[in-house]
Amino acid sequence: MADLSLDEALASLRDVPCVAGTEFVALGKALGHVLAEDVVSPLSVPPHDNSAMDGVVYAQADLSPDSETRLTLAGTIAAGHPLDRPMLPGEAFRIFTGAPIPVGGDGVVMQEDCRFEDGAVTLPANPRIGEHIRRVGEDVTAGAQVLTAGTRLRPQEVGVAALIGRTGLAVRRPLKVAVLSSGDEVVEPGRPLPPGAIYDSNRPTVIALARALGFIVTDLGRLPDRLDVVKDALARAANDHDAIITTGGVSVGGEDHMRAAVESLGRLEQWRLKMKPGKPVALGEIGRARFIGLPGNPVSAMVTFMMIARPLLLRMSGATWTTPPRFPVAARFALRRKPGRREFLRARLIVDQQGLGVETHRSDSSGVLTSMAWADGLIDVPATLTEVTPGMMIDYLPLSEVLS
Ligand code: AMP
Ligand code: MG
Repeated sequence: MADLSLDEALASLRDVPCVAGTEFVALGKALGHVLAEDVVSPLSVPPHDNSAMDGVVYAQADLSPDSETRLTLAGTIAAGHPLDRPMLPGEAFRIFTGAPIPVGGDGVVMQEDCRFEDGAVTLPANPRIGEHIRRVGEDVTAGAQVLTAGTRLRPQEVGVAALIGRTGLAVRRPLKVAVLSSGDEVVEPGRPLPPGAIYDSNRPTVIALARALGFIVTDLGRLPDRLDVVKDALARAANDHDAIITTGGVSVGGEDHMRAAVESLGRLEQWRLKMKPGKPVALGEIGRARFIGLPGNPVSAMVTFMMIARPLLLRMSGATWTTPPRFPVAARFALRRKPGRREFLRARLIVDQQGLGVETHRSDSSGVLTSMAWADGLIDVPATLTEVTPGMMIDYLPLSEVLS
């Protein structure tokens, strides 16, 4: 069993190859998918100079030096209705936001700064030439790459694709992921709870975690602590899934058969992560499927999913490798600890008279799942740190960064 730091574990996952083929999806279905193409714009955006204001468009040559200018108000130019001729000397036009600047127009004055009379408009002295005009190509120049393969599409990327006229995008097929829990003590909610039993909270949690990443998830139920049954279930799951995620059964307890089952079906590497909560995590292969064995303790299962399974599965999906951001925040708690293991504390941001700070949950037990429901983030405590004092700046990782 290898003793690994989280960074060492992650370094070994960085180059995991993509297993997902590509498909073409309509823009309306693209959200959350991994982009499979570099997208280049065939056009400039905006495609024409246009007004950034409701105002009046004028030609510089008509302006009176250092004084107001009275011009003929020759008409109105609305968005979507370009003027079909150049401006003539002495003319100004009312122009609305988004309307194309006519040939000859050099600037726009906000309508609030103009005086309108019958058929004429008076502009203030010395308007800034070029002001309130959005230039052609200001957003995108024709031929520029606007989206990069490997990007997980957010609403704004969907918008950018539409901006340049795309109706669909080449994306990676979503991973097919099987989720199983294990343990003779684990019972399905809805059933009575026999003595010594607990309800299965890991499987719904892990299914939700995997769905939030856009995967197609199969719920394969719970496995008893029996080697033959575990082997059989894993072998079947490996046939039609890209990844199999299990919880529990990977410690070295006598009834923990997951390891033996995977080893007999394929290959298994077990990591004792120098991380709290978290150890141990098992990674392997069964046929063409990746095996990810998470710990049974509910908080450990969640944290190892977010820290190890998530980046691995995203790589398999063709996503660009990213490191979730941490932000330095002032501690509103004190802590003394033994060095050696990196630790993720369940944390919550608070804003009070002292400004922004972060507090920790009363429990650091990896069995207390309600602490995850309480938390909005994790404090990332370096392995070497022995003491946190109130006011000290410490790295905070928002859960929102690792829950999708
Ligand atoms: P294990 O890794 O199988 O030794 O399990 C470690 C701890 O996590 C034990 O206390 C188990 O009862 C608990 N556990 C295992 N699987 C689940 C589950 N699906 N839901 C909730 N707790 C679990
Ligand atoms: Mg167990």
